[in-house]
Amino acid sequence: MPFRTTIAGSLPKPAWLAEPERIFPNWRLEGPHLAEAQRDATRIAVGEQVRAGVDVVTDGEQARSHFVHGFAERLGGVDAQKRQKRGIRGDRYEALCPTVTGEIRRNVPVHLDDVRFARTLTSGALKLTIPGPMTLVDTVVDEAYGSRRELGFAFARAIAAEIAELIDAGIDVVQLDEPAFNVYFDEIEAWGIAALDLAFALADCTKAVHVCYGYGIPANVEWKNNLGERWDQYALVLPALARSCVDEISIELAGSRVPPDVLALAGDKTVAVGVIDVASNAVETPGDVAATIALARQYLPDERIVCSTNCGMAPMPRDIAYAKLRSLADGALLASVGL
Ligand code: ZN
Repeated sequence: MPFRTTIAGSLPKPAWLAEPERIFPNWRLEGPHLAEAQRDATRIAVGEQVRAGVDVVTDGEQARSHFVHGFAERLGGVDAQKRQKRGIRGDRYEALCPTVTGEIRRNVPVHLDDVRFARTLTSGALKLTIPGPMTLVDTVVDEAYGSRRELGFAFARAIAAEIAELIDAGIDVVQLDEPAFNVYFDEIEAWGIAALDLAFALADCTKAVHVCYGYGIPANVEWKNNLGERWDQYALVLPALARSCVDEISIELAGSRVPPDVLALAGDKTVAVGVIDVASNAVETPGDVAATIALARQYLPDERIVCSTNCGMAPMPRDIAYAKLRSLADGALLASVGL
């Protein structure tokens, strides 16, 4: 059976929709014109994945400006207008973040319309990404809770309510993005896994979590250059996730200094292995992709490997991202031929 393929989540937005190659882009349009353009961009994002041969597709996150704020700002208790600068991911870089001013409540669905629309575009497997509780905590300014743990559980309850409705809308995979897990190792054990399990409490679908070294932006590239020859962060993260309720763990491998032997620490989970580097505009050949899959196969049985991208491709040039989609699917097929 061929290796299954998916993407971490985002694809670049067209320049007519938002400022290109930015992780916090401004929209080009407003109101109903913006909504219409987001749907057109979603059609393209899903279409490009289907055309490339990707098995589990996403909406390309075309309807949210940033993967965290697009969720957080729709919740009650979050003041989207009150933006404050703060250091995020262990002060790796600064971002303008919305402020938590009261009790977190999911008063309205956040991504339900996005999922309903994307569901009309493909009969294949559909995945939606949502920021995980710890990453949400790390990307807002808290003026209400005074405890990362308590705020994290509040976000987890909101996510659980959201997921329950997404299942009714036909979602197949929900992936919680937790790049913060690669930074706050003490908090993973203290409350991160418990919050993740709470967020998935009502998830009658494939439960995935994505932990990565971030987009290929300069602050991340600089950070990664200082992490040494062997990036051992996953050696701390994977055993903890192996004890969680998740079915699938999405991590990066291609073009990184992640030692492939850490894959053996994923317990009995499926691993969505990053076989496409999002920090480089060089497009992998299918042979490159197959070689990365071969590395993973040294430590994981074939049935527990899904082939994915290292992270979201939002900040990349569009033509390069689409070319990488084709290499992802072609490389997975190439690796499968020898089975
Ligand atoms: Zn990522």
